[in-house]
Amino acid sequence: RHNQNPAVNKPRYIRVNTLKMSAESAMQELEAVNTVVKDDIVPDLLVLPSGTDLHDHPLVASGGVFLQGKASSMVAAALCPKPGWDVLDACAAPGNKTIHLAALMEGKGNIIACELHKERVMRLEDTIRRSGAPRLSIVHGDFLDMNATDSKFSKVRAILLDPSCSGSGITTERLDYLLPSYSTGHENDAANTQRVEKLAAFQTKALSHALSFPAVERVVYSTCSIHRAENEDVIKSVLPLASSLNFELATPFPKWPRRGLPVFEGAERLLRTDPAEDTEGFFIALFVRKCPTNGNAE
Ligand code: SAM
Repeated sequence: RHNQNPAVNKPRYIRVNTLKMSAESAMQELEAVNTVVKDDIVPDLLVLPSGTDLHDHPLVASGGVFLQGKASSMVAAALCPKPGWDVLDACAAPGNKTIHLAALMEGKGNIIACELHKERVMRLEDTIRRSGAPRLSIVHGDFLDMNATDSKFSKVRAILLDPSCSGSGITTERLDYLLPSYSTGHENDAANTQRVEKLAAFQTKALSHALSFPAVERVVYSTCSIHRAENEDVIKSVLPLASSLNFELATPFPKWPRRGLPVFEGAERLLRTDPAEDTEGFFIALFVRKCPTNGNAE
């Protein structure tokens, strides 16, 4: 049933940058290259046949469209920020999801994009420049050092946290490899296991920090890892804190069939994509605050 070489037969996805053009006009231009259809669940995501190479297409150079996979495009869409909101992208470079947030917010509101590494800040700046996204401020620094109670974050209503991860979801392994034992990882290699544990410790800290921002109502946590240690286990370990702050897990893309590994009650609200079936292996969790504490006005 599955092709042994997963790179074969996989569609190509591109996300239309609606700050610059509509999905319809992008489709019209791209139809000259190949067949184009709209994705069935992610708005403004277009699907082209496997093997279509758009790297040199003028729409890519002009920032009218961005080459972004389906799973990656589901992350900002799951956060669903409204135009006019203050939104924080905690680990932002190279900025694919930052500019997706800007498009979803129709260029209205304020986005703060935080990135730790200098050379990656430059990539973030370049992505933002190409997208034409307005009102975006870049913070070169450590997200963990951001003071959540600082007045400049007092209106932050949504946080996208896409931290450094093992990247194991962009390999070709299948998710169900993990299912029989629900293991904490399938590495034989001790160094690799240690690396995943270190990443998971950072991810847990970063997610706890994101939940601590006083006005935040929606937090999305995502990885491109297939490891339970970086995904369900991170979510499970912040659940007591989340619950004390009045957050609950919501269900992004409820019709999506692949959900979290059933390692705690409610894990079916989490979303997984399978690298063999869906091009990439991503994980998405969405926390929503039941009653925002400060009654944030629009
Ligand atoms: N969201 C990005 C996108 O879609 O283009 C990809 C983010 S990448 C998975 C994670 C990023 O977080 C890296 O650029 C990394 O340098 C940055 N990072 C790692 N630790 C950080 C920290 N403590 N504070 C801020 N950024 C951090």
